[in-house]
Amino acid sequence: MATKYGGYMGRVAQLDLTNLKVGEYPWTDEDRALYIGGKTMAARILCDLFTGRERPLGEENVIVISTGPLTGTGAPSSSRFNISTLSPQTGFLTSSNCGGTFGYYLKKAGFDALVISGRCPHPTWIEIDGDHIKLHSAQEMWGLKVTPCHDALRSRIREESGFNKKFGTICIGPAGENLVKYAGVASGERAAGRTGVGAVFGSKNIKAITASGHQEITVHSPEKAKKFLKKWFKSLRKHPLTGNQLPRMGTAGLVSSMQMRGMLSTRNYAKGQYEDFDKVNGETLAEEYNIINKGCMTCPIKCARTVRVNGEAVKGPELETLGLLGGGIENNDLQKILDWNHELDELGMDTISTASTLAWAMEANEKHLWNNGLRFGETEQISQLFEDIAHRRGIGNQLAEGSKRLSEHYGGKEFAIHAKGLELAAYEPRRAVGMGLGYAVANRGGCHLNGGYLVIVEGLGLFTDPQTPKAKGDFTMLFQDLMEMIGASGQCVFTSYGFFPGFLITRPNGLITRIANAAIPHIGWALRFINKFPLTLHLQLPVFQQSRFFELATGMSMKFGKYIRCGERGYNLERYVSTRFGVSAKDDALPKRLTDTLQDPNDPTSKVPLEKMKKTYYRARGWDRHGIPTERTLRKLKIIA
Ligand code: SF4
Repeated sequence: MATKYGGYMGRVAQLDLTNLKVGEYPWTDEDRALYIGGKTMAARILCDLFTGRERPLGEENVIVISTGPLTGTGAPSSSRFNISTLSPQTGFLTSSNCGGTFGYYLKKAGFDALVISGRCPHPTWIEIDGDHIKLHSAQEMWGLKVTPCHDALRSRIREESGFNKKFGTICIGPAGENLVKYAGVASGERAAGRTGVGAVFGSKNIKAITASGHQEITVHSPEKAKKFLKKWFKSLRKHPLTGNQLPRMGTAGLVSSMQMRGMLSTRNYAKGQYEDFDKVNGETLAEEYNIINKGCMTCPIKCARTVRVNGEAVKGPELETLGLLGGGIENNDLQKILDWNHELDELGMDTISTASTLAWAMEANEKHLWNNGLRFGETEQISQLFEDIAHRRGIGNQLAEGSKRLSEHYGGKEFAIHAKGLELAAYEPRRAVGMGLGYAVANRGGCHLNGGYLVIVEGLGLFTDPQTPKAKGDFTMLFQDLMEMIGASGQCVFTSYGFFPGFLITRPNGLITRIANAAIPHIGWALRFINKFPLTLHLQLPVFQQSRFFELATGMSMKFGKYIRCGERGYNLERYVSTRFGVSAKDDALPKRLTDTLQDPNDPTSKVPLEKMKKTYYRARGWDRHGIPTERTLRKLKIIA
C-alpha cells in the first residue's frame, strides 16, 4: 500500500507458513501516523490478530519483524529493527530490538515489516529478494551455530545468484532449534537476544531469513535532512556519554561506577559489590583485550567492542554479561567471560538469562534445594554446560527453562531474579529503586531498557537520590514513552543520552549539577503534568533531535509532545495486548530478595519500595489498581474506538 510519508517503503509482507501463502498485510497511512513503526506497529498488528488463546510455542503464535521510518535513512544509529511475538519466557507480548543490517536490507527489498504465521513442516530458510519471497529447505543448516549458518547462507546465495550479492540475515543457533526458553535471534554479530524470540523461530522451523533488494529509501526533505544530520552526528560525537564514555569503553565502562554505588549485582544479587570487580571491568577490557570499537550501521557511538577469542576477532561482552558472568557467579577471569560470551552468541542464547539462571542454580545447590553440583566460583564445566543447555542434555535440559520455572519446581522463588519470567540485567535495584520499578512493570519483563532505564539519573549519569521513591513513577513513565518512540522510529535508544546537557555529566560537583540532582525528586508534579498533557508541548526542544529529524524524514508533524504521546500509545498498546494473556499487577513483581531483604542491614532504605512506586506509576499511566489500562486511557490514546 503506497504511502505519502517519507522513510517508509509502503508495504508489509504477510507469510502463512502452514499454507505456504504469501500476501500483503493491509497497513495504511492512518496506521503509520498512529503506530509509527517498529515495536508499536508490531503491537497494533498483533493486537488485531491475537485472541488471548495463543501459546508462545504453538503454531498459532505470530511473529512481526518490523523496521521504523528512520531505519536506513542515515539517521544516527538507525539500523535497528524489531521482533515482536508472544514470549515463551513471559507468556506475554514481547519485543526484541536488534542492530545489524537486516532491517536496512528488508527495506531495500521494499518492505517495512513481515508478518509471519503458521509453521513450516521442516527446517526452512526464507529468502526475500525484492518482490520474490521463496522458502528453501534449511535441513543442511539445522544444527549449525550462528557463524557457520551465516557462512552457509552466503555460499547458497552466491551459488544461486552467481555473484557476491549484498544481503541482510537473521538466524537462530542450536538453542532456538531446541526451544531453549531464552534463545535469541542473531543478525551478524548483533542479536535480538532477549525474551526467547529464537525459540519461537525454532518452533516454526525457521532457521534463517535473508533480505536483499534495490529499492531506494527516501526521506521527505532530503536537503534539510542532510544538513540536520551533519549537526546531529557532530553533537553526539561531542557529548560526554555518546562521544566519549560509550565509544571508549562501551557499556562495560559502567561496571566500576556500579561497583562504587553498590549497584553491581553479585552472587546472584545477594550483594551489590564484587571484591574482584577490577579484574572484570570496562577499563581492564579496554586496556588488555579490546582490539577495535565497532558499531551498527550509521552509528557514531560505536558501543560494541571487538576482542580476540582463540585467535579470532569477535564481539566482546557488554556490561550485563560482564556483571552477571563475573561477580554474579563469583568469577574473576575476564578471558573466560570473553570466551563464554562468544560461545553463547554462537549457540544463539541470551547471555543475561543464561547467567542469571546459572547463578540461581548455584544458590539452589548451596541451599540443598536442587542437587546439581554447580558452585559459585567454580567455572571449569561452564562451557560444556552452555552446550548442554543449547542441546537440552542432562541438567542443561532443566536449565533451559530459566530461573522462574526452576524455582517453581524446586523452591527458591525469593532468589530467582526475574520479573514476569525474564531475568534482570546486572543493575542491582536496591541501590537504584527507580530501576527496580522499571524492571517490575516493563512490558517485556525484567528489562533495563524497556523499564525506562532510570538508573541513568540514579547514579550512572546524573546523581539524584537513588533510594527515594519520590517522582520515580512519573519519571519511569516518561522515559519509557520516550524510548518506546525512539525504538518505534528505528533508532537505538542510546541516542537519547544526548538529551542530557553534557556539563551535568562532566561536572558532577558543579553548582548547577548539584541543584539539578537535588531538585529532580521534587519535580514529580511537573513530570505528571507532561505525562498527562504531553500535547501542550507543541514545540521542538533544541536538545531533542529525534522528533525534529522525524519530521524532516517522514513529513509528519511530530512536535516533542506528540512524540511522547506516540510512545505512550505504543507502551499502552503492548500492555493492552498482554492483558488478553492475563497480565496484571500480580505480574509487576520482583523477587523478595529485592523488595524485602535489605542489601545493607544498617540501611533501612536499601530495598525496593515497589508497591508504593507502583501506585504512582499506575496512576500516572491511567491504569486501574490491577494494572489494567482503563477504557478511558485506551480511548484517549486511540487504541480502541
Ligand atoms: S549505540 Fe551501540 S547498540 Fe546502539 S546502534 Fe550504536 S553500536 Fe549499535
